[in-house]
Amino acid sequence: MYTNRLITLQLIKMAKKTNKNTWELAPAPESSGHIDLKKQYELFIDGRWVAPKKKKYFATTNPANEKKIANIAYADESDVDLAVAAARKAFDGVWSKIAPSERAKYIYRIARIMQERSRELAVIETMDGGKPIRESRDVDVPLAANHFFYNAGWADKLEYAFPTKRAEPLGVAGQIIPWNFPLLMAAWKIAPALAAGNTVVLKPAETTSLTALKLAEIIEEAGLPPGVVNIVTGHGDTGAAIVNHPDVNKVAFTGSTGVGKIIQNAIAGTNKKATLELGGKSANIIFADAPIDQAVEGIVNGIFFNQGHVCCAGSRLFVQESVAELVIKKLKDRIGTLIVGDPMDKNTDIGAINSKEQLGIINKYIKIGNEEGAEMYQPSCNVPSKGYFCPPTLFTNVAQSSRIVQEEIFGPVLAIQTFRTIDEVIQKANNTPYGLAAGVWTDKGSRIFNLTTKLRAGVIWANTYNKFDPTSPFGGYKESGFGREGGLHGLSAYVKLV
Ligand code: NAP
Ligand code: MG
Repeated sequence: MYTNRLITLQLIKMAKKTNKNTWELAPAPESSGHIDLKKQYELFIDGRWVAPKKKKYFATTNPANEKKIANIAYADESDVDLAVAAARKAFDGVWSKIAPSERAKYIYRIARIMQERSRELAVIETMDGGKPIRESRDVDVPLAANHFFYNAGWADKLEYAFPTKRAEPLGVAGQIIPWNFPLLMAAWKIAPALAAGNTVVLKPAETTSLTALKLAEIIEEAGLPPGVVNIVTGHGDTGAAIVNHPDVNKVAFTGSTGVGKIIQNAIAGTNKKATLELGGKSANIIFADAPIDQAVEGIVNGIFFNQGHVCCAGSRLFVQESVAELVIKKLKDRIGTLIVGDPMDKNTDIGAINSKEQLGIINKYIKIGNEEGAEMYQPSCNVPSKGYFCPPTLFTNVAQSSRIVQEEIFGPVLAIQTFRTIDEVIQKANNTPYGLAAGVWTDKGSRIFNLTTKLRAGVIWANTYNKFDPTSPFGGYKESGFGREGGLHGLSAYVKLV
C-alpha cells in the first residue's frame, strides 16, 4: 500500500507536469453486491445466535452516507452473565483439556476462512467504519488473518515459547475493543487468547460491531466448540459488565485513556490480570539528513492514514529547522493530492470519520487550534456534503503547551514544530502524558539507536511509520497503557507461568 501511494504520487506529479488541470481519477468503487448482511444481528453466545434478554437493539450506520446498515443487539448484564457462563463451561469442559495441536487446527481454520472471505470482510469493515477500502483490503483484513496464523503456530509449541516453564491458561478472557481497527483488534485479542487455551467474551465498539459478528460466523463455520468464543455487542455498560463480572480472569482493553482508568480502578484489588492499550500523541521526527520525499510520505502515512483514527498516529511532527520550510512545502503539496471521499472508492486516501460524535471532537480541536493562535492549512479539496468527512489539516506556529499538541485528537490533524538539536527534540517529544509510538527519519544509524534509547515510546519506527507485524510486540508507556500485544509478549499476557 505504501508502494502504491508512492506510485500514485509519481503519477500525479507527472500528470501535473504535462497538464496541471487534466488529472482526474475516474471513480473506482468496490462493489458490495457480493456481501451478505442481515437486517438484524443477535448475540453470539455458546455457539448460538441468541436475542438479548431485554430485546433491545441499536442501529449501526455507514458514516460515509449516514444510512442505517443493520440493527445490533444490545447486551445487558444478564446477557453478559450468560456469555461468561458459556465461556467458563467451554474452558473447563473442552478448551483447556483438548490437545494443543487440536486448538491449533481450529485457529488455522479461522485464519483460512478469513482469507477466503477477505473481500467480504474488507467491504463490511469499510461500510461500517468509514475507512478507505484500500486500507481494509490491504492492511486490516490480511493482518487480522495473519494474527490467527501466527498464534496458531504457537498453540502446540508453548513449551518452546516459554522454555523451562509450564504455560497454563488464565481462564475466561473479557476483551473490549475500539472502533478504529474493528476486525484487527478482535484478531489481536482472540488469537493469542485461544492459542494459550483461554476462552473469550469479546465486545466490539458500538459503531463497528459488524466485522466482529462476521468473525463469529467464521468461528461457527470453523466448528469451534460452543462457548469458546462469545461476542456480545452493546454500549459502554456492556463493556463494564464484562470488566466487573466476578468470573472473568483477564481483562484486555483497547480504547481511550479515560475508560482505561475506569477499568483499572474497577479491577483494583481483584485477581484479574489486565492489559490496557490506550491513547497516544506520537512524535514523528525528521532530521535534515533524512530522505525528504520518503519522510513526507511517512508523515502522510502516519497521520492521514485511516483518517488519523490510529492510536499510534504521528500527530506531532518535529522537523529540523534547516529543512522545515522545504518539508512543510512538500507536505502541503502532497496533501493537496489526497482524495477525501467515498471510502468504497479504491482511489480514496481519506475516508469517512467514524461517527458524527468523533467529527464533532475533531472540529472542536480545529477550532481550539485556531483560537490558540496556531496557523492552519487545509488544501482546497472536495469534501462530500453527506456523511462525516474532514480534510487533512496542518497546524504550524504551535506551542508545546497548545492543547492540539498535548491532547489526542484522533483525526487527520497534524501539529508541526521545529527543533535545532537532538537534545531539544528528545525533550520536546517526551513532553507528553502518552508514550505509544514515535518515528525517526535520518540517514544516520547511530542517531536512530541514540533516540530509541531516549524516546519514551513503546514502538519506534526508523525511516518508516505505521508498520505492523503479528510477530512484533505493540504497546505503550505512561498514559498509553501497559502490557503488549503481538509476538511472544502478546501471548505471554494470556498465560500463567508455573
Ligand atoms: P473508548 O471510548 O474508550 O471505547 C473503547 C471500548 O470500550 C468500546 O468498545 C466502548 O464501548 C467500551 N467502553 C466504553 N465505556 C466503557 C466502560 N466504562 N467499561 C468498559 N468498556 C467501556 O475508545 P474509542 O473512542 O472507541 O477508541 C478510541 C481510543 O482508543 C483512542 O484513545 C485510541 O488512542 C485508543 N486506541 C488505542 C490503541 C492501542 O493499541 N493503544 C489501539 C486503538 C485505539 P462503546 O463503543 O459502546 O462506547
Ligand atoms: Mg457503523
